[in-house]
Amino acid sequence: MLTNLKKMQVWFITGSQHLYGDETLQQVSENSKQIALALNGAEEIPVEVVHKPVLTSSESIHRLVVEANADESCIGLISWMHTFSPARMWIAGLNALQKPHLHFHTQFNRDIPWSEIDMDYMNLNQSAHGGREFGFINTRMRKNRKIIVGHWQDKEVLKEVGSWLRVAAAWHDGQGAKIARFGDNMRDVAVTEGNKVSAQITFGYEVNGYGLGDLVEHVNAIQANKIDALLDEYEASYELSEVVRKGGSKRDALQEAARIELGMRSFLEEGGFKGFTTNFENLTGLKQLPGLAVQRLMKDGYGFGAEGDWKTAALLRAVKVMNVGLEGGTSFMEDYVYNMDPNNGLVLGAHMLEVCETIAAAKPILDIQPLAIGDREDPARLIFSGASGPGIVASLIDLGNRFRMVVNEIETVEPLEDLPKLPVARVLWKPQPDLRTSATSWILAGGAHHSVYSQAVTSSFIEDYCEMADIEYLLINEKTEIGEFKKELRFNEVYYNSIYKY
Ligand code: MN
Repeated sequence: MLTNLKKMQVWFITGSQHLYGDETLQQVSENSKQIALALNGAEEIPVEVVHKPVLTSSESIHRLVVEANADESCIGLISWMHTFSPARMWIAGLNALQKPHLHFHTQFNRDIPWSEIDMDYMNLNQSAHGGREFGFINTRMRKNRKIIVGHWQDKEVLKEVGSWLRVAAAWHDGQGAKIARFGDNMRDVAVTEGNKVSAQITFGYEVNGYGLGDLVEHVNAIQANKIDALLDEYEASYELSEVVRKGGSKRDALQEAARIELGMRSFLEEGGFKGFTTNFENLTGLKQLPGLAVQRLMKDGYGFGAEGDWKTAALLRAVKVMNVGLEGGTSFMEDYVYNMDPNNGLVLGAHMLEVCETIAAAKPILDIQPLAIGDREDPARLIFSGASGPGIVASLIDLGNRFRMVVNEIETVEPLEDLPKLPVARVLWKPQPDLRTSATSWILAGGAHHSVYSQAVTSSFIEDYCEMADIEYLLINEKTEIGEFKKELRFNEVYYNSIYKY
C-alpha cells in the first residue's frame, strides 16, 4: 500500500533573464535539460524529474507555480540559477508556492576551465551570484526551503537531493492522508494527546475515530479460505513455535489472529487509510489484542501508534514513505528498560507486541504467549531482536502552542545476553552522546515514550520534514551538551511565540 515513488514528479526549473539574448538562453535551456535528465536517471533520485522551460519573467514564474500547486503528481520544485535572475521577478511565484522547494545551488561545469575561460563563459556561468540573489529573496520573504550546494554529478550531492525528495514524497503522501483511530487515547495519558485540528492545518493529514464495532464487523465477515491462505503465508515467512503449528495447542488462536489481521486490513483498505491507532482499553468484540496484525500492517507501510497515539501513527507513515527502497527498516517504538551501567548505558526498546519486522536482525519467530494487559485471550506476536547499526528515534509532541519534534541519533547493538523469558520483539540501543545526556535532554524537551525508530533514514530527513511543516526540530546527537541544549529550548520558546500560528 506504499506509493511507488517513481509515479511522483519533481519539477526542475531554471531561472534566467532576457538580458543575455536568445543564444545564451538557448544554451541555458540545453544545459538545464541535461542536468534534469541526469537527475532523472540517477539511482539516488527516487522520483521522476521533469524539466520545465527556462523562466525569465514574473508572469511565467507565477504561472508555473500555480500549475505546480494544482498538479497532483508534482511533489515540489527544484530550482537552479544558471545565470543571474533578478529576484523581484520571483516574488509573486514564491508567494503563491504551496509545495516543498529545493534550491539547488549547483553549476553546470564542475571546474573552472583555466585556459579557456573568457567573458562569454562568465556571461553564461553565473550560478555563484545568481544563486545568492535568489537566496536573498527567499530569505527576505522568510521562506523555508532546502539548499543543497555542490556539483550535480557528485554522488554525495545526488544522495542529498534524493533524501530531500523522499521527504517531499512523504509530505505529498501526507496531504489529505486519513488516519483511523480505533477507540480513544489511553485514559489519563498526557503525551499521546494533542490538537487534531492544528495537526491537520500543520501537516495536512486527517485523524478520525471509529468504534470497535465498525472494525469487528469486518473481522467477523472474513471467510475461512482467506484465513487458511494467510496461515500459509505465515508459515512461509516466519519460524512458527510448536504451539501455533498445524495441530498445535494454540493453532485456533493463530487462526483468530489471522482473522483480526484480515479484518483490519479490509477496514483500512475500504476506507483508504494510511495509518491507524489501537488502544488495549478499547477491544470490545476482539478476542485478542491485535499484535501480529499491527506488526504485519506496519511492514506493509501503514503508520501505527499504540494507545491512541495518532501523532506517532502519522509520523511513522511519513517515515515509511521516505524509507521506500532504502536499506533498513522503520518501526513504532517505545523506550522500556535501561541498562544503567555507567560504562555502557543502553535503552531496551519494545512495545509488548507492536514492533515492525522490517527492523529485525533475523527471521522472526511467530508465537502465542500470555500478555499482562488488555484483558483478552493470549495474543499472537512476532518475536525478534533488532538489527545492529546506526539509526534514529523521533518523537512528535504537542506543546499546547506548537508541535515539537525531538530526534535522537542512536547506535543499535546486539543484546548483551539472550533474553529467554522475554517473548516480544525488542531492540537494544546506545543513545548518542550517552544515556545520561540523551535521556536528560529528551526529558527536558518533553519527548514522548513513543517514537518512530528508523535505520533507513537519518536525522536530516526528519529535519527536512520539520522545515516543510514549519515546526520546531530538536536534535540530540554526539555533540549535545545539556547546558547548550537548555539554552536552545529557551531560545526556541521565544522564537516560536513570536511566529505563533498553531
Ligand atoms: Mn505505549
